[in-house]
Amino acid sequence: MKTIGMLGGMSWESTASYYKAINEGVKSELGGLHSAKICLYSVNFDEIEKLQHEGKWNETALILSNAAKSVEAGGADFLIICTNTMHKVVPEIEAEISIPILHIADATANKLVADGVKKVGLLGTRFTMEQDFYKSRLVDKFGIDVVVPDTNEQTVVHDIIYDELCRGVIRTESREQYLNIVSGLHEQGAEAVILGCTEIALLIQQEHTKVPLYDTTEIHAAQAVQLAISNEIAI
Ligand code: GLU
Repeated sequence: MKTIGMLGGMSWESTASYYKAINEGVKSELGGLHSAKICLYSVNFDEIEKLQHEGKWNETALILSNAAKSVEAGGADFLIICTNTMHKVVPEIEAEISIPILHIADATANKLVADGVKKVGLLGTRFTMEQDFYKSRLVDKFGIDVVVPDTNEQTVVHDIIYDELCRGVIRTESREQYLNIVSGLHEQGAEAVILGCTEIALLIQQEHTKVPLYDTTEIHAAQAVQLAISNEIAI
């Protein structure tokens, strides 16, 4: 079995979901007492969040590149970054390590393509919904159309992530707000909605809506398990 390298702590609430999902995945594939080989570097999210909101992405890239080098030195065979937003700095991280990165948008898009989804709604931080680093990957590499909430709704989605979900706060009112936004995306033609922030599944799950939800945490963790137990070396 390969060792999965993880950059976590963004936030630790979702890294806990990853850790559980990956170990459950290995247990269900291999049975018995099998568990995942993991080398995890968990950052202090307070530092990362401040730099994000100040637009200091180069500084976040430096922190995460150093963390990724530690994970590689610790024996990881490949890397997963346990946040959608910080995939913004994947090119900078890739330049510093020699192990491959299993990209969260690729993992999600592969599943969407396999399921025949052509137009998808995207929820995430404002950075993920507004900027191009994530959406353009879905459009250009996989030919999937992406719709995002309007500016006011983006603020609601963004603030709930940072003010509540990343702090472990789950509120019914916030769930209702998210579900209204999911319905709005569906009305705009989205056949499914990507939970493109690794904490969103703490708030809304498939049981809350008929619109198909694609939870990036679950999908990313499941593909990491498949890669870890397969004989494939490249991604
Ligand atoms: N975990 C979140 C994401 O998937 C947001 C926190 C962050 O900015 O990393 O984008």
